[in-house]
Amino acid sequence: MNDEVSGIILKQTDYKEADSILTVLTREYGKISFVARGTKKMTSRNRSAVFPYTVGLFAFDYRQNKTMFSLKTARTQKFYRILHEDIERAASASLLAEMTDAMTMERSDSQREYILLEKAYDLINDGAHVHTVCCLFLVEMMDLFGILPEADGCVRCGNHIVYTISAKDGGFLCKNCAPPFSEGKDPADLKRFRLLIKAGLEHVKIVEDAGGAKKSDLRLFIDILEEHGGIHLRSFDFYDRLFAIE
Ligand SMILES: [Zn+2]
Repeated sequence: MNDEVSGIILKQTDYKEADSILTVLTREYGKISFVARGTKKMTSRNRSAVFPYTVGLFAFDYRQNKTMFSLKTARTQKFYRILHEDIERAASASLLAEMTDAMTMERSDSQREYILLEKAYDLINDGAHVHTVCCLFLVEMMDLFGILPEADGCVRCGNHIVYTISAKDGGFLCKNCAPPFSEGKDPADLKRFRLLIKAGLEHVKIVEDAGGAKKSDLRLFIDILEEHGGIHLRSFDFYDRLFAIE
């Protein structure tokens, strides 16, 4: 049977001499892999359709209980030109793809993740603020993953008057629960942290209008992900260096 699915390419890995393996998040089958033959030869018709961070239509023979399939044809549906040409946007696309890859299981229902990632790529390609999109996307993914940071009060005692944010505790701490002699966070930082958790990716414009996220916000969420999800994102190192001068 010849199946055709829409999917977002999360990564492309070299395989044998001229082939590559694509990790693709699909709407229908969740995350699956394709062996794409001959993609490294310039003459390959599939070549432009196997770039990471693009949306494509993939034809293959579906088999139950399999996670890797031989790719017959691929056709690009959304190439995201600006996202690929601008190095900062490309770095954020790579970070979002790594988050998605790390936070989804093969062959599990990933409809919501798919919708979120496509939306995030649309936004980045259309010029949205990258730190803000990355933060809002990561928070949505953390929610699906079951590690949403606490944003209503102190993680430990529920006190609504909060003093600082702790990656280790996974959210706000009040002055009583904060480590002794620790410095409190600026109220604007506390407010922004809460907004980023509550807003949702669909409200990116509202967050941008309120000043948007800072790289330090993204780092905080990434620290929480590492602490509570056990996930280290290698692509953040490059992202971090790239945005060093701000
Ligand atoms: Zn407390």
